[in-house]
Amino acid sequence: MSQSIRSAERPITEGHHLLPKLPYPLNALEPHISRNTLEIHFGRHHAGYVKKLNELLRSSAFVHASLEQIVRLAPPGPLFNNAAQAWNHEFYWNCLGAHMGDRPVGTLAKAIQRAFGSFDSFCAEFTQRATALFGSGWMWLVKNPDGTLALEETANADTPIRNGRLPLLVCDVWEHAYYLDYRNERARYLDAYWKVVNWEAVASRYGGDAPGRN
Ligand code: FE
Repeated sequence: MSQSIRSAERPITEGHHLLPKLPYPLNALEPHISRNTLEIHFGRHHAGYVKKLNELLRSSAFVHASLEQIVRLAPPGPLFNNAAQAWNHEFYWNCLGAHMGDRPVGTLAKAIQRAFGSFDSFCAEFTQRATALFGSGWMWLVKNPDGTLALEETANADTPIRNGRLPLLVCDVWEHAYYLDYRNERARYLDAYWKVVNWEAVASRYGGDAPGRN
């Protein structure tokens, strides 16, 4: 792999990826997701994936690639796992925010209604599938290449951008996302999650045509 996969999307410092800045203070999601959880989840888990990614890149042909290019192109294994977890976590933080409206409006709201019958049906199915997802993984709302919306579970580090689908919203259902606040009660975490979803960010992705960040 060489210059052909050099990033056009964000600056790369020769195989050194930075932990992105959290888009809000560590306590911004309280009382729904605690500062303590964010300190560990962002400061240890997310930071750990970025650190490991940089270590693995030192001996990798992907040294010049962007994070998204690594996620799309790296073979299954540690490099993919750490890059995808770095990408997924950055996306997750950008799905959340403080004092958010409780539901989408405009074209996204209409698309959700078309796909799921109603916003409440969408939330119920997302919650049910996120709660039932076995083991560690991610629950996504995605936009298919034909413009339709769909729900999708991925296991471990896997991510829909690998398969050409545009992520609009994600919930991290690894235990580290909720264990400090809700112990083993993933359903309670899902209840809290809906209170901090940044629907404006989701709507802006729905209106766009490129996978990735806000
Ligand atoms: Fe996580």
